Amino acid sequence: MNHQVSNPRKVCSKKIWNFASYNLLSLHSPPVGLEHLHCDMKRGFAKARKREPLVAALLKQDNIPQRIGLLAQKGVYEFHQDSSMFSDKDAIDQLAIILRLDRELDLVRERVTQILKNYLKNPILSGKKVIKLSRGDEGFPKPILIQQGDYLFNLYAAIDCILIEEDNTLHILDFKTGKTDFDRRQAYIYLLAAKYLYPRYKTVASFYNLETCKHSKPITATPETVESFQIIMSRLAKQHQLDLQRYRKNSADFRYIFPPNPGVSCRFCPFSSICEFAIAEVAA
Ligand code: SF4
Repeated sequence: MNHQVSNPRKVCSKKIWNFASYNLLSLHSPPVGLEHLHCDMKRGFAKARKREPLVAALLKQDNIPQRIGLLAQKGVYEFHQDSSMFSDKDAIDQLAIILRLDRELDLVRERVTQILKNYLKNPILSGKKVIKLSRGDEGFPKPILIQQGDYLFNLYAAIDCILIEEDNTLHILDFKTGKTDFDRRQAYIYLLAAKYLYPRYKTVASFYNLETCKHSKPITATPETVESFQIIMSRLAKQHQLDLQRYRKNSADFRYIFPPNPGVSCRFCPFSSICEFAIAEVAA
């Protein structure tokens, strides 16, 4: 039987290193159809070698998509701190000052400004019963300790926004930016998290792209699907720890533990400057 630990205090005296999250899942296995863009070596750099100075420096650099995502989330948060903003003709300028957009790269400033304009035109949270709206820069969410069989792992699920719908359904909303397609697996992670955090609620998850203004359909899952996703996440946590242990025992095996997949993905890879397998130009 799978369940959250009945007495977390007992096990919390011991640090649980095993973890799973959407970030780890996407580093470990790509969504269907994007296999050609997947490179497991990125997971190796990001997770096994993250303390090496060069890798740490690369990880620290906020890349443009992340920066836009963060500022977009902050923008939505700020809109809802002061609802008079929605009727203020200087709202975008005020938010630009709050978000200090003048310090950002032109591209970031332009895209975030457009996101703010989009949101002002279509403030999808207005009139909704919002019980949680994150600012985006809160850091790691509190882990959810889960027991799968005799295996314990922490699930991390950073939730952007939670609404209570009129029929009392709990709605987890994830904000997106850019052109990436919605990944259904991320919704299942939210539904798994909700099973532990809000067990009394019927739950749905959905995605809203702040740039394209596209809303996904609400995604639901049967208890069996949520249960099988828990198994997937526990296996992911276990496999990842095994890979880390193998790497610690023999760092020369890096390329075998985290096999490279040089190709198109090298163009957008944060580690291309230090990766011996990086391909600079890929033939069309
Ligand atoms: S540069 Fe290319 S091969 Fe190296 S980790 Fe990145 S995607 Fe993989």
